[in-house]
Amino acid sequence: MYEIGEEEIEALARVIRSKKLFRYGKEQTEAGRFEQEWAAKIGVPHALAVTNGTAALACALIAAGVQPGDEVIVPGFTFMASAMAPLSIGAVPVLAEIDAGLMLDPADVARKVTPRTKAILPVHMLGHVVNLDPILKLAQAKNIRVVEDCCQCDGGSYRGKRVGAWGDTGGYSFNFYKIMSAGEGGAMVSKDKTGFQRARIYHDTGAAFRDDAAELTVPVFCGLNYRLDELRAAVLRVQLGRLDGILERLRARRTQLRQALAGAPGIEFAPVHDEAGDCGTCLFLRVESRAHAQAFARAAEERKLPVSLPYDSGRHVYSNWDPILERRAAYHPAVDPLHSTEAGRAQRYTPDMLPRTLEHLARTVSIGTGIGWSEKEVREVAKGVLQCLAQPVGTA
Ligand SMILES: *Cc1c(COP(=O)(O)O)cnc(C)c1O
Repeated sequence: MYEIGEEEIEALARVIRSKKLFRYGKEQTEAGRFEQEWAAKIGVPHALAVTNGTAALACALIAAGVQPGDEVIVPGFTFMASAMAPLSIGAVPVLAEIDAGLMLDPADVARKVTPRTKAILPVHMLGHVVNLDPILKLAQAKNIRVVEDCCQCDGGSYRGKRVGAWGDTGGYSFNFYKIMSAGEGGAMVSKDKTGFQRARIYHDTGAAFRDDAAELTVPVFCGLNYRLDELRAAVLRVQLGRLDGILERLRARRTQLRQALAGAPGIEFAPVHDEAGDCGTCLFLRVESRAHAQAFARAAEERKLPVSLPYDSGRHVYSNWDPILERRAAYHPAVDPLHSTEAGRAQRYTPDMLPRTLEHLARTVSIGTGIGWSEKEVREVAKGVLQCLAQPVGTA
């Protein structure tokens, strides 16, 4: 969350005064309006508001037609939920390497495709966008679906079109740490109407309450309850109104910082696949080694610079996905695709299976963008970053 204020308080008060906290009823609802507004913002025909990003991804996979025993290609650098979403619907994540920009590597995706591959799940990490073009081409050639994980990239775009509008379906998160937030929240988008209806049924314990339930053209099956409530939907509508302004300011500060650093000796930026379109939440620098990154981070901490090491981001690195590495992908083996499907039983996960991913992560430092930085502050951060780069390596 970058900005929140009086408008959100007013929106919440409006919903509470109406005493209508649940989305179903006769009038237009906050959740219904948010869905229309989100679909329009992203540029897709169908959007579904849900309780969180993990649910959004499960719905997006269902809408894309992913089934139990299907393989879904997932990068080794993403929040663990990107791999848990396919597992939650019986599918099997196949882990692929990231590129030097820390995004899913199209070349490794091509190597990981098998006859069982049903979908590719590119994750737009840390506000950056994936090198989508070769992935979309490969998917088209092989008749594979693309499900975009946009949870860390709400509103970002690639080649002028918003992320989530490129794939067959996509998921967004609005939890507290994302660009837009209602504490928790999510949305999924779909181009296909039948797939969208299946996701709608899944997120709504069978879609029994909705006014237009009679219009469904696919048979109702049992689902879960991932419906968004009116309070969060009202907050998200305000947050959506702020979104482009937030992105504009983040991008401007990130660009200033990049310019302030460009050309300085020893500076190496990680490759970026669409600088104008990414959310500008942070800037990645490449350093020589893990030891250099650690020395940088120590020096940055002393200077109170907003620096983090992607390598140390816990459950965002596949080698820390213990429940998956240890093959406990569900509460019971009988419904655990790693035990109950042939594809799952054949799949191996080890902490060293993606060496290039670990190498790229080890050599990257991330500088978070301050949305309210003045030009003077940007110059100070740049100066601090250069001092950190000059730190001797290997001294504690
Ligand atoms: C946050 C996140 C999710 C899950 O979103 P929740 O709203 O926390 O369920 C999925 N994928 C990525 C890349 C995320 O960062």
